[in-house]
Amino acid sequence: MSQTTVVILLGRPGSGKGTQGELLREQLGYAHISTGEILRSAIREHTELGLKAQGFVEAGSLVPDALILSLISERMHQLVGRIPGIIFDGFPRTLPQAVAFQEVILKFGIRQLVVIELKLPHQVASERIQYREASNAGQLRLDDRDEVVVARMAVFERETQPVIDHYERLGVLVSLEGAGSREEVFGRVKLAVGAQDHQCLAKP
Ligand code: ADP
Repeated sequence: MSQTTVVILLGRPGSGKGTQGELLREQLGYAHISTGEILRSAIREHTELGLKAQGFVEAGSLVPDALILSLISERMHQLVGRIPGIIFDGFPRTLPQAVAFQEVILKFGIRQLVVIELKLPHQVASERIQYREASNAGQLRLDDRDEVVVARMAVFERETQPVIDHYERLGVLVSLEGAGSREEVFGRVKLAVGAQDHQCLAKP
C-alpha cells in the first residue's frame, strides 16, 4: 500500500490545468506529470516517443492510448512511494485510459485519489489560449495555432468529457470554478486536495 496521493486535473484546453499543476508541485512538493509537456519535449528532442507522437500532437488529435499508458506506467514506477503525491494533468483523457489507469492505481496500492474538474466555458478558454499565443509570439506552442485549438476543443468534448462524466458517476469528482485569477483558482484547488474525506477508488 502506498501513501502517495494521486491528483487528476481535468478540464478543457485552456482551463488552467498546467498552471494549477505547477502551483501544486511548488507548494506541496508533488510531482507534476503533464503528458502534453512530456510529448512536446520528446518532439523537440526527436526521441523515439517524439517521432511517434509528433503527427498527432501537431494535428490536435490524441496520441494512441498504448503509448500514453506505457509512459504513465514508467513514471509511476519511478515516483510512487518516493514523493507525497503525483499530479496528472492531461491524463486520463479517454475512457480507455481512465479504465486502464484504475488498474495501475490498484497495482500500486494508491489509497488517495482526488479528481478535480476545472470548469471554464469554451469561449473563455479559447480566449486564454489566444492570449497565451499573443504573449508568447517568439515561442509559439506547436499546437496553439487557431485551427489546432479548434480541433483540441472538439477532441475534449468527444473524448474527455466522458472521462469527467465517468468520475462523476463514481462519486469522486470535485468540480471547481476555473474562472478567476490563478491565485483564486489555486485557493479552491488547494482546499479540494487538502480535504480529508477524499473518496478512494482503490478499495482493498
Ligand atoms: P491541452 O489540454 O491544453 O490541449 P496538453 O498539453 O494537455 O494540452 O496536450 C497537448 C497534446 O498532447 C494533445 O492535443 C494530444 O495530442 C497530446 N496528449 C496529451 N495528453 C494525452 C493523452 N493522455 N492521450 C493522448 N494524447 C495526449
